[in-house]
Amino acid sequence: MTRNQGITNSILELVGETPLIKLHKITKNLPGTYYAKFEAFNPGHSAKDRIALHIVQDAEKKGILKKGATIVETTSGNTGFSLAMISIVKGYKCILAVSDKSSRDKIDLLKCMGAEVHVCPANVPPEDPRSYYEVAKTIHKKTKNSVYINQYFNELNTEAHYRTTGPEIWKQTDGKLTHMVVASGTGGTISGSGQFLKEKNPNVKVLGVDAIGSVLKKYHETRELDLSEVSPYKIEGLGKNLIPTATDFDIIDVYEKVSDKDAALEARNIVKKEGMFPGYTSGAVMQATKQYAAQGMFTEDSVVVLIFPDHGSRYMNKIYSDEWMKEQGFL
Ligand code: PMP
Repeated sequence: MTRNQGITNSILELVGETPLIKLHKITKNLPGTYYAKFEAFNPGHSAKDRIALHIVQDAEKKGILKKGATIVETTSGNTGFSLAMISIVKGYKCILAVSDKSSRDKIDLLKCMGAEVHVCPANVPPEDPRSYYEVAKTIHKKTKNSVYINQYFNELNTEAHYRTTGPEIWKQTDGKLTHMVVASGTGGTISGSGQFLKEKNPNVKVLGVDAIGSVLKKYHETRELDLSEVSPYKIEGLGKNLIPTATDFDIIDVYEKVSDKDAALEARNIVKKEGMFPGYTSGAVMQATKQYAAQGMFTEDSVVVLIFPDHGSRYMNKIYSDEWMKEQGFL
């Protein structure tokens, strides 16, 4: 993809090639150099454009997805937006099963983008027929000529980041990065870009970010699913109550868990200090970076890339609302 080279034929040509932006004030007291890969520069305003486009193009190539077909997916919102955008451009119908934890803004956006949205309860086990996984599967079974994207269990999710995000970071840092800090949900971003970067330089450290209330960190340490780790939390798109096969846990060196409050305050801190307007998980990544720094992870020679997955406009009624922050006891 090339930007700013005259006319762009379709918005989809602008997916990827996001900027790597130096952080200044917010990392002033940490050793090393810090850059944010700001995925809000994708046309759908999140990293999910990459996987949505890759999976759709793959299905088209294989002849599974034909004009007039339906795309079905489970999504916390961002993948849904990307799929809805692609569906409009390419002429597909888009049906999305969304968790009721997703912000109102995200759900409204999906409807506005022409998708059919089914809102499902967040705090039920994945195998419950009301969960967004089961609802999506049922819709897929019932809908003729439909494709289920299945991002949590689709290796193409990871492959999209192996092919795009990883090489971009390598090129943008001139191969000089030493650490990468990445939020883990499906695990596509961390595993795909992490694999590419470790193939280039095995010394690159891949540092994961998980949520308090999620099973990923414990699973990484023990390779056992410990459901006693599960508790409700507010950050959307981070952590999980199941083990996604899209995550390659061997690529990840270590995980840090962050709290809802710290992540929310750090997101607002990024706005104040750097003038960027990122989403909730970017705050989680910033907070985890500070936690890693406090453990002595970085030195003056460290070149650290933080991935900021999406844009703050999707959280106006959550972390960017003083009222919401006060209700949660965060302000
Ligand atoms: N941040 C946000 C806002 C997300 O929606 C997601 C995706 N669930 C992630 C981070 C994590 O990315 P991945 O699924 O590639 O692990």
